Amino acid sequence: MTLSAASVRELRPFLEAPRVLITSHVRPDPDAIGSVLALREAVMQSGGQPTCVLEDECPVRCKVLPGAAEIQVARECAEMAPFETVIVVDSGNRERIGDTERFVGKAAKIANIDHHISNTRFGELVLLDCDASASGEVLYEIFVELGLRITPSVATNLLAGILTDTGRFRHSNTSPTTLRVAAELAEAGASLTQLTEQLYFSIPAKDLVSTSQILSSLEFFDDGQISTMFVPRDYAVEDPDNLIDLGRAIEGVEVAVLFSEMKDNRIRVSMRSKSRVNVSEIAERFGGGGHERAAGFRMYGTMETVQQRLIPVLSEVLRAR
Ligand code: AMP
Ligand code: MN
Ligand code: MN
Repeated sequence: MTLSAASVRELRPFLEAPRVLITSHVRPDPDAIGSVLALREAVMQSGGQPTCVLEDECPVRCKVLPGAAEIQVARECAEMAPFETVIVVDSGNRERIGDTERFVGKAAKIANIDHHISNTRFGELVLLDCDASASGEVLYEIFVELGLRITPSVATNLLAGILTDTGRFRHSNTSPTTLRVAAELAEAGASLTQLTEQLYFSIPAKDLVSTSQILSSLEFFDDGQISTMFVPRDYAVEDPDNLIDLGRAIEGVEVAVLFSEMKDNRIRVSMRSKSRVNVSEIAERFGGGGHERAAGFRMYGTMETVQQRLIPVLSEVLRAR
């Protein structure tokens, strides 16, 4: 699926507005950060004035992305008038922008640019491409359609999202189009080697120690079709994708689950599947969402109680296949 040219052109007024708020989901990943930063340049190229706000701080490994210092954290922002023009990117529902909501005007016009199958289609303009590997891939299409310049910094930010959301071009969301777009971005000045070095080969040493603890919590259910791991707060790591990818890589595993303790007594649940289970559908039952092969939700409880609620649901889905 590609976006219609007519709908993409409807984004123009959002890019040209005198005050534009650009935001994305809580706990931003490189696709969220890179997409916000690429949109920031799109607004500047179009004559608008961008302000980038996220609920949470930019993860350390994303601070190298060009322009990352321009992103503000909602709770640290000085008071400012609410925005009437808002672009939300890489967030499947409005609630996932978290605290940034307080800067969204009551009658604000919202453009929703995304690739999540669970997207609730909020906002006045919805540019949703569920076949795109990343919001970075959706934005590439938008840049080309609108004739915006893909500068080396835009290319780097877009490729960062594509690289990480595809698990370095290995997940099933990596389409021939994804590879072509990545090639175009490399030609426009993004360095795959440098991004890989920065996003994957700069793991803090303490995270490897934590990883060994987390791996020792590995459990299996349903004859080894489900793997689970616990991430206690003390062992939180910068990039949990590495861990859940290991849980999913085990022979015979169809669904891998990571339960992580959050600051507010909730548990963050991340799920990955190999080929049979639509984990977005399961996450939506628990108020979350995502993609067919990667999804998540949050729930109050302990890691053990949340595990006890989820496993029977997963078992039933596996039995039905
Ligand atoms: P994660 O396991 O946190 O890496 O998330 C996997 C995918 O599911 C990502 O694309 C997330 O944006 C999405 N996702 C995770 N948690 C939620 C949630 N609570 N609500 C909606 N989408 C989510
Ligand atoms: Mn994301
Ligand atoms: Mn994404």
